Amino acid sequence: MSGNRIIHTPEEIVRIRRAAAVTAQVRDEIARLAHPGMTTFDLDQLAGSLINATGGKSAFKNYHGFPGNICISVNDVVIHGIGRPDQIITENDIVSIDVGVTIDHAMGDTALTFSFKEPESDTRRLLDGTRQALMDGIAAARAGSFIRDISAAVEKCARKHKLGIVREYVGHGCGIKLHEPPEVPNYTGWGKGPRLEPGMVLCIEPMLNLGTDSVRLDRKDNWTVRTADGKLSAHFEHMILITDNEPEILTWQKTM
Ligand code: MG
Repeated sequence: MSGNRIIHTPEEIVRIRRAAAVTAQVRDEIARLAHPGMTTFDLDQLAGSLINATGGKSAFKNYHGFPGNICISVNDVVIHGIGRPDQIITENDIVSIDVGVTIDHAMGDTALTFSFKEPESDTRRLLDGTRQALMDGIAAARAGSFIRDISAAVEKCARKHKLGIVREYVGHGCGIKLHEPPEVPNYTGWGKGPRLEPGMVLCIEPMLNLGTDSVRLDRKDNWTVRTADGKLSAHFEHMILITDNEPEILTWQKTM
């Protein structure tokens, strides 16, 4: 686990704050406009239009060759799903969208999972548990604490909700580049990582499963990550700024 961390300057934080706010608006607009009957490709195109309208660009498109504007991960897809013209969204689906926008040389990165109707109890537990794990992780992100404290808070909440914790993918520093040090795992047992200091910007992003924690990478597209047992997965992500007091949630909107 890398001990590196980046302390952003006040000038950078002004730009990062704006990029994150723009990204959060786009995230919520996509979730509001998504509906059963459209394809995931339609949703990706819509996301591309909304991102363009901000004056920014998708931070994901062409990142290591990623083909979409955003990641759209339906049901058993954990992360990195690609919008497809042959994939029609149904009212029974749960849909994760992960949105990254770069604007004025700064980055925003945020994700949420939503359903179209009141989900059955296990799905409710997954969605509520994953969102709560994110919020518990954020609450632990105080200057003077360590990355491990965030990881422990996320892990504790995931355990309480009896959800599998994906280990292959983790949260990360963010701000000027999409992925900056340090890594922010959703589990403990690896050390404690760097001490949190004001000016650090972190993406906390629990990826939790209803069943097994093990996942499989789609060998055809080399992007799509699915649960190994085919059960549902959820993903919530906020970008936060470490301050002298409470962390500032840079991707906060009333809706999430
Ligand atoms: Mg991220």
